[in-house]
Amino acid sequence: MDGSFSTAFDTPAETQKTAVSPQFSRTVDRFLAEDLTEDLRAAGRATTGLKSPAWACEAWRRKLLDRGWLAPSWPKAHGGAGWTTAERLYFEQRCAENDAPLIMSSGIRTIGPLLMQEGTPEQKACYLPAILSGEHEWCQGFSEAGAGSDLPALSMKADPQGDHFLLNGTKLWTSFAEYATHMYMLARSEAGSVGRDGLVFLLVDMSLPGIEVRPIRCIDGSEEICEVHFDKVKVPAGASVGKAGDGWRIARVLMKIARSNNTTTGTLRQAWRAAARYVKAAPGEPALKQRLDLLDAEITGFEALEARLSKPCDHLNDAARSSMMKLRASELHQAITEVGLDAAPHDEKALAKYFFTRAATIYSGTSEIHRNSLARTIGCP
Ligand SMILES: Cc1cc2nc3c(=O)[nH]c(=O)nc-3n(C[C@H](O)[C@H](O)[C@H](O)COP(=O)(O)OP(=O)(O)OC[C@H]3O[C@@H](n4cnc5c(N)ncnc54)[C@H](O)[C@@H]3O)c2cc1C
Repeated sequence: MDGSFSTAFDTPAETQKTAVSPQFSRTVDRFLAEDLTEDLRAAGRATTGLKSPAWACEAWRRKLLDRGWLAPSWPKAHGGAGWTTAERLYFEQRCAENDAPLIMSSGIRTIGPLLMQEGTPEQKACYLPAILSGEHEWCQGFSEAGAGSDLPALSMKADPQGDHFLLNGTKLWTSFAEYATHMYMLARSEAGSVGRDGLVFLLVDMSLPGIEVRPIRCIDGSEEICEVHFDKVKVPAGASVGKAGDGWRIARVLMKIARSNNTTTGTLRQAWRAAARYVKAAPGEPALKQRLDLLDAEITGFEALEARLSKPCDHLNDAARSSMMKLRASELHQAITEVGLDAAPHDEKALAKYFFTRAATIYSGTSEIHRNSLARTIGCP
């Protein structure tokens, strides 16, 4: 390895180009050249977390929606692009290479696919179009104080009262709750129940009376995570996905979707490009260039892993597959921002990116929990 990094980024894109038709790649490339304006690219480059500034997200989201590409892996019947994994990866890669804004929509990535699998026809008709149009933004209300890794210890109450559930309690570490119009939540619907029994999975309108959101300031300067209080909040009985008591099963389905979807190859590629800019501006640092080249190779490996795991595996269940993806992506993300910070230790954005990714091995299940889960899959005690 000679430490050069100027051409390393071309390699995976070339590999992927063989997996999609020339017509598909031409269409994507033309769209990006015409619609990804310089101000949007600048916003993409400046992003420190999983989401670009609100104005850039909205502008980019609208362009993707108009083109029918906002939800790449949703089926066409629900307004998605219906792309293959190779097409989606190609698109993500080209967006990253062109510094597209990151829009990280929880609705598109998690609750939408869950409702397609588990929702009633009424829920699908109500929520899926509103997720695509951007009318509804979703947050996830699982964790509580004392119920993170040990999620079944949660105590949020959802007392069934005829035509509604009465919510009382507090959710903690809820990302983007301040901006969300809706929260999907796990709560206890059976008084006296413990653990995984007696839970309900609810779709909660955040404008209901009795909900208070308090943002928490994080070490990277962001206020994306919040504490959310529920005081005698009435949620209609029809807002339950599955039956009361079925909440744990539904949450498990969602976690498999969410974990494998959290850090995408596009996010990793974008973070790598940011680190490469810092390294380029720090001359005489061959060790940093070598680390960058290694990470480039590892991202290519991650893309291959993602492509492989998107196909059926004989001996790996869905949970193991999503744990592998989550572990690998979050640890790679951290390693990338470490290189960025080592190259630019006094740069505020490099520091913010570094701090932000410290949380990547905590949210959506910590690395320790995923390793435990994988160990069980291969028969360890
Ligand atoms: C930035 C950020 C965003 C988040 N967003 C959301 C959100 O939108 N919605 C939501 O519901 N939650 C969210 N969370 C919460 C997140 O899911 C929890 O923080 C996570 O599950 C860990 O739970 P905990 O913080 O209670 O830590 P704990 O569960 O108390 O764990 C503390 C430490 O002990 C280790 N540990 C615990 N149990 C075991 C075990 N059995 N074996 C080995 N080690 C173990 C853990 O790995 C960890 O290192 C977010 C967290 C962060 C940091």
